[in-house]
Amino acid sequence: MTAELIVRSKRVVTPEAVHPAAIHIRDGVIAAVTPPQEIPPRCEVFDAGYSVVMPGTVDTHVHVNEPGRTEWEGFTTATRAAAAGGVTTIVDMPLNSIPATTTLEAFEAKLAAARGKCQVEVGFWGGVVPGNLRELRRLYEAGVLGFKSFLIPSGVDEFRHVGEADLEAAMKELAALGALLIVHAEVPGPVDNALAASGDGHARDPRRYDTFLRSRPREAEDEAVALVIRLSRKTGCRVHIVHLSSASALPLLRRAKAEGMPITAETCPHYLCFAAEEIPDGATEFKCCPPIRERENCDRLWAALGEGLIQMIVSDHSPCPPEMKQRESGDFLRAWGGISSLQLRLPAMWTAARQRGYDLCDLTKWLCSAPAALVGLEKRKGSIAPGCDADLCGWSPEATFRVNSATLHHRHKLTPYAGHVLSGVVEATFLRGNLIYDRGQFPSSATGALLQRAHAWTSPS
Ligand SMILES: [Zn+2]
Repeated sequence: MTAELIVRSKRVVTPEAVHPAAIHIRDGVIAAVTPPQEIPPRCEVFDAGYSVVMPGTVDTHVHVNEPGRTEWEGFTTATRAAAAGGVTTIVDMPLNSIPATTTLEAFEAKLAAARGKCQVEVGFWGGVVPGNLRELRRLYEAGVLGFKSFLIPSGVDEFRHVGEADLEAAMKELAALGALLIVHAEVPGPVDNALAASGDGHARDPRRYDTFLRSRPREAEDEAVALVIRLSRKTGCRVHIVHLSSASALPLLRRAKAEGMPITAETCPHYLCFAAEEIPDGATEFKCCPPIRERENCDRLWAALGEGLIQMIVSDHSPCPPEMKQRESGDFLRAWGGISSLQLRLPAMWTAARQRGYDLCDLTKWLCSAPAALVGLEKRKGSIAPGCDADLCGWSPEATFRVNSATLHHRHKLTPYAGHVLSGVVEATFLRGNLIYDRGQFPSSATGALLQRAHAWTSPS
């Protein structure tokens, strides 16, 4: 067996363990993983020394916003930030771009906008909105990895939320296709009730985080999760809860899983790193929906990760131009809800996970293998194993850095992590055996593929 490149380290994270190994790479694919001394003559060796080498991370929840709102975030900037953060696959959300990815034509516009710009692999979610039932099959056959819907206004007019009847009809169609539905699980009722209870909604100080938190109560999430479970049971549609924040929805998920229902859930770094009690007045960079909740809620999300009830951590990177964050007025109620963290997910999560006693194998499951499996990519992405693409991240878990906007490659630099000292410095990122990031440099141009389900791999269903 002749390898073109060997990546070697004393700490390689494979599905079994962390151990010294040589990763043999041929044609961009991992041909073998051997003891580190087994190096064939005349092949190129990248020796990562004592740095950890783990699979390139997979982030299935990224809002790129191109075409149409490229000034918020675009493929060039997002995928550059991804490469710098050790992320080798992202999956783009169907909303915030114009058009939203809810028709075949819109998907084609999205692919045209992305082509030739991506430093890392990019897959796409399609959208379920009122009235696009007939588009779902066309989108799926054209290669979207699954479908997203909202149960509450999404924040942009082009992507309308669905009610129960629309959702049920869509889930029947998706079940027939074998497609996955991912759901923004908040329903309007409890949010409307909270608004009514606060008078005209301006009776409380909009600069206080607590005012915003009370406007998005846990019940909105809990009722939405219950609805999704009920409709999944009725239709057989596979479902996934995105950005779960409310820990009081966890017992519902536990019961559904015990029944053997096809349901998974993700949470995000901001729900695991921050607590409502610590968010300063006016700090709208912390605003997202559903909101960051109390410390006690955060502890229960961690326990659910440990239990396997929440399977993965994804960024929900959702930036906007800084003026939309209303940082000057500090008005939480008017600010755009979305947090930028694509480049920082690995160090943010490692910093928090190690403090809670979790290890590199846990981190790899949450950031790499579980999100890859969610979108049917587990045979190619998210693991260091023969047959997988040689997507790798070399990083130092012991090294620390202070988050500084000058080193962020996101289009906009505002992030709640600014100024925080994090453990875990990404040193090198490989995409299919190509070094795409090397200690602050980007040695190769856009080499990321657009991952279209039907063309790139067979459907998991
Ligand atoms: Zn999102």
